[in-house]
Amino acid sequence: MEPNKELLGPISQQSLIHELFEKIKREQYLSDEILRELNVLFQITAAGALEILDNNKAIKLVASPSERYLYAVNASNKSKVKTYYTCIPPSYCSCVAFLYGIKKKEFYCKHLLAVQLLEALGSAQTEDISDTDFALKIQ
Ligand SMILES: [Zn+2]
Repeated sequence: MEPNKELLGPISQQSLIHELFEKIKREQYLSDEILRELNVLFQITAAGALEILDNNKAIKLVASPSERYLYAVNASNKSKVKTYYTCIPPSYCSCVAFLYGIKKKEFYCKHLLAVQLLEALGSAQTEDISDTDFALKIQ
């Protein structure tokens, strides 16, 4: 019998992504092998996400006492005005790419990929905020 090509489409891509994140959680380190897989699976988005990690552009804001959290990702270092995107892993980012990409299943913009990597690595820079401030940020 011919292998079912449908099964090798987006579903296998999703499971590869899932496996990759599991591997990152286990190793707690972005090895050359993991970086290669990231580039294959996410292509240009991987480069953008790694740039965010390298430049510490994402901060995890943890609300107290609820312990809910979101990430603030610095949008650009070009403009003098600091702009942040709000990212709530695994499924929300306030950027335009995400807004248009969401029609595709399992879409990752570079911000969302970056914060997912930080979650898997357990290496996010954190800052405590109050629940009141948290509520204001997700409005
Ligand atoms: Zn985004």
